[in-house]
Amino acid sequence: MADIFLTNTLTRKKEKFKPINRKEVKIYTCGPTVYRDIHIGNLRSYLMADILKRVLLYNGFSVKHIKNITDVGHMRSDPTTSRLRGASETAAFDPVIAEALKKGKTPHEIAKEYTKKFRDDEKALNILPADNFPKATEHITEMIELTKGLIEKGLAYETNGTVYYNVKKFKNYGQLSGNTLDKMDKLLEAVRVSSESDKKKSVDFALWKKADEGHILQWDSPWGKGYPGWHIECSAMSMKHLGDHFDIHTGGEDNIFPHHENEIAQSEGSTGKPFVNIWLHGGWLLIDSKKMARREGETFTISEIVEKGYNPLSFRYLTLMAHYRSRLNFSWDSLKQAETTLNNLYRWVSGLGQGFGDKNKKDTSDFEQNFLEAINDDMDMPKALDIVWQLTKSDVDDDSKLKSLLKFDKVLGLDIQNAEQMEVKNISDRITKIEIEKLLKERKSAREKDDFKLSDKIRDEIKAKGYEVVDSKDGQKLKRIIN
Ligand code: AMP
Ligand code: ZN
Repeated sequence: MADIFLTNTLTRKKEKFKPINRKEVKIYTCGPTVYRDIHIGNLRSYLMADILKRVLLYNGFSVKHIKNITDVGHMRSDPTTSRLRGASETAAFDPVIAEALKKGKTPHEIAKEYTKKFRDDEKALNILPADNFPKATEHITEMIELTKGLIEKGLAYETNGTVYYNVKKFKNYGQLSGNTLDKMDKLLEAVRVSSESDKKKSVDFALWKKADEGHILQWDSPWGKGYPGWHIECSAMSMKHLGDHFDIHTGGEDNIFPHHENEIAQSEGSTGKPFVNIWLHGGWLLIDSKKMARREGETFTISEIVEKGYNPLSFRYLTLMAHYRSRLNFSWDSLKQAETTLNNLYRWVSGLGQGFGDKNKKDTSDFEQNFLEAINDDMDMPKALDIVWQLTKSDVDDDSKLKSLLKFDKVLGLDIQNAEQMEVKNISDRITKIEIEKLLKERKSAREKDDFKLSDKIRDEIKAKGYEVVDSKDGQKLKRIIN
């Protein structure tokens, strides 16, 4: 089996991937909070997880992939962590409840509606479905158990119906994000959190929160009626579905702190064992050089992309053009360019096997090897795409090309097997081919009559239709002009 390298946020290094169990690789992805349409920034992170899964499958692994559904809102804007994350907001609210109240629905109805939309968006982008999409509200018992265990171990304490994690008791705190206690203390010195004045230290975070009378989503617990804190659900659900120790945990770069740092504290604090081997974080999708996020300004959805007439897979292609760890600026122009390039690929593929080629090389092993190396080198998709284009332009014969391209598409997920349907313009494209064949015949007879003026004129006409005529000893050959 070939080596796979991945950049691990925990060690800050590109590492050779060593599965815990060779038979099945276990991946957990932090999923969406389902109270509104997810935006294409969120989807960039899910696309990264999808490529990861496809790369592992391509390498012959089985994969168990879990992606949670957050259907209980957490107070997203905890002022303590907001400050550390550089955000400016301070108002606390449960977004699921807020949306339910606004629409006169129950939180459950809201969650159901947006879970379906999220699944549809993933499908439109050819994101392979996770094996399970566990819901936070169906794991309250597990979260309470985990919290109880942390209190028993002296890592958490209860005050007034709220349970906090006692961060200074967990010696490895800060290993993922670099936000170690000493650094955090300094940063937080000035922060006074009135609503959480029961905390021993401002760095402590809530595992369980006491519910006010009017809070719609609340459950019984050993500490009275309440609801889970922000981070506990992912510890509870990942360990329930993947075990105490699993291979890879993914998310966007904003998940590193506090969410994933706190997940480590919860899980490792509870089991006393390592939790996750590789933490993989994707760079943000930006808009106007800022993170695409509802609170920051403009966001776009897949529905908007479709409404504007784009193929959602053009967005998939766009994300493949940048390395997953780098930030990527979104603009409609960049989407358009990605669509043009993707359409060129579809046109290439639907033109294969139509007798236009003059290629006879059968061996694609170099291309296949280079493709494998690119995807296994920390998912270098820009390079992988480059190899795809090299192959299309190579002197390999059509059948072998197509075979390799279809194989590569198991990772790319661009629906290459449906190339003809994918590019709507193919209808006219097919007509073009018939016209070109007619022109080729006319040119052949012009040349037989030594009428080179007419022959050149026809050559220009063919060129205008996107093909270059090459005269070889076997006669006229066509080459598609790729722009
Ligand atoms: P949230 O609903 O904010 O928890 O986001 C769900 C997932 O999307 C998380 O893994 C985030 O890290 C990720 N995410 C949010 N905004 C962006 C963005 N602009 N670019 C990439 N990933 C993002
Ligand atoms: Zn999570």
